[in-house]
Amino acid sequence: MILGSPSSSCCGGIEHRSKRSSIRSLTDGAVDLPRIERAVREILLAVGEDPDREGLLETPARAAKAYATIFAGLSQSPEKHLGRVFHERSDDVVICRNIEFYSMCEHHLLPFFGKAHVAYRPDGQEVVGLSKLARTVEVFARRPQVQERLTNEVADAIATFLQPKGVLVVIEAEHLCMKMRGVNKQHADMVTTAARGCFVDDAAMRSEVISLMMQRA
Ligand SMILES: [Zn+2]
Repeated sequence: MILGSPSSSCCGGIEHRSKRSSIRSLTDGAVDLPRIERAVREILLAVGEDPDREGLLETPARAAKAYATIFAGLSQSPEKHLGRVFHERSDDVVICRNIEFYSMCEHHLLPFFGKAHVAYRPDGQEVVGLSKLARTVEVFARRPQVQERLTNEVADAIATFLQPKGVLVVIEAEHLCMKMRGVNKQHADMVTTAARGCFVDDAAMRSEVISLMMQRA
């Protein structure tokens, strides 16, 4: 394994250090936990609850910690994962299917979650570990999101850092803002796609890969 070109230059090293420190500081204060606690207490008051009753006493602190985890991707970069590549003379399509993810719809701050399927066609020189594709989904899912942007951001990150011949991302998700409120549709889900490079140009390859992605065991 060697370091990939996007991150192995000396400038990349400096950037890495600052990214690492911002990730580390997340747990020691980059996310303003007391501020979230105050806000959660306000919400409880605003909906008519008593935040001082026994069951809710620790809720603002617990919710603040949960938000720090749910939005941890805001201080992370996909470079950390996609900067590490293996030299491999292959340009056959690689698919990582059924990457489960949890995200938060930025319109309602309610969860949406499901599966991401990520395919790329290597440039014939470098491939990336499959777990790094899953980590990349994670980086973008753990932010206030909309599913369309999540799909595009994953595709663009892989296109940028791996410079492959093509990238195809398909995300299937259910949205609690559709199920718990609004139209109350319990069985609707949403599928989004983002294609780059050869998957834009070659419709036959695109549909072959999509059918492999959607195949159920
Ligand atoms: Zn929503």
